[in-house]
Amino acid sequence: MGSIPSAILHKNHNIARTIGGTDVIEFKNVNKWFGKLHVLQNINAKVAQGQVVVICGPSGSGKSTMIRCINGLEQIQEGEIMVDGIAITHAEHHKKELVKLRAEIGMVFQQFNLYPHKTVLENVTLAPIKVRKMKKDEAEDLAMELLKKVHIPDKVRSYPAQLSGGQQQRVAIARGLAMRPKVMLFDEPTSALDPEMINEVLEVMIELAKEGMTMVCVTHEMGFAREVAHEVMFMDNGQILEVKPPDVFFSNPEHERSKFFLSKIL
Ligand code: ADP
Ligand code: MG
Repeated sequence: MGSIPSAILHKNHNIARTIGGTDVIEFKNVNKWFGKLHVLQNINAKVAQGQVVVICGPSGSGKSTMIRCINGLEQIQEGEIMVDGIAITHAEHHKKELVKLRAEIGMVFQQFNLYPHKTVLENVTLAPIKVRKMKKDEAEDLAMELLKKVHIPDKVRSYPAQLSGGQQQRVAIARGLAMRPKVMLFDEPTSALDPEMINEVLEVMIELAKEGMTMVCVTHEMGFAREVAHEVMFMDNGQILEVKPPDVFFSNPEHERSKFFLSKIL
C-alpha cells in the first residue's frame, strides 16, 4: 500500500495505481506531425485501469489528436501506443486487430454523432449486434439497462432530433458503454451543450468514474476534474507540460502556461 500516491488514495473510489495494476493505455515516445506541424511531441503517458485522467489545455494544443490516436482514428509517425497490451501502432496494419481493439474503447465526441435515422434503441444496439454478434433481444435488454444508467429509459423509441443536446449526449454515452469497453474516451463532451444541460451529462460521467471505469476526458469542466480525476494532464503546443492530481494542479500549477490557462478558465 505504501506505493500508492496519497493523492490517489484519498479518492473514495477505485485505487488506480496499485503495484502491478495494469496500464490500459500507454504512450511511449509518441511523435506525430500534420505536415510540418509537430502536433504531438514526445508524448509519454500512462492510464491505469480504473483511472480517470482529465486532459486540458488551450485550443490547438493537441488534445483531440492525442485522444483520437488511442482508438486509431489518427496515426502516429514515431513511438508506440499500447491499448490493453496491444500496440495500436501495429494494429493498423492488421484490420482485425484494430476492429477488436476499437471494440474495447468507447468514444464520446463533442458532436454527439448519433445516427439520425435510427431510434435511440437502434443507436445503442447497433454495435453490439454487428460487432459483438449479440442477439437482438439480448442487445435490447442491455440497451435498456444502459439507458436507465444514463437516466433516459423513456426515450428508447425516440429519434435523436426529438431529444435535447444533453439527452443526445447521454445516448451517445450509453452507445459507447454498450460495447462493454475497457476504457471510455471523451472529447469535450459538454462543450456543445447549453449550460443547463451540462450537469446532466457530467453527472452520468461522474457516476461512471465512481464505478471504476477507466476514463480519458478532454474537458475544461474543472468541477468534474476536482471530483473524480486522479490526474490532470495539461497540454500546450503538442507537449504534456504537467501531470498532477487535481488538487495539486489547481492550487499549485507548476508552469507559467498552466497558470495562465487556469486564470482564463477558473
Ligand atoms: P485541441 O483538441 O487541443 O484543440 P487538436 O488536436 O484538434 O487540438 O489540434 C492540434 C493542432 O493540429 C491544431 O493546430 C490543429 O489545427 C491541427 N490539426 C488537427 N487536425 C488536423 C488535421 N487533420 N490536419 C492538419 N492539422 C490538423
Ligand atoms: Mg479538441
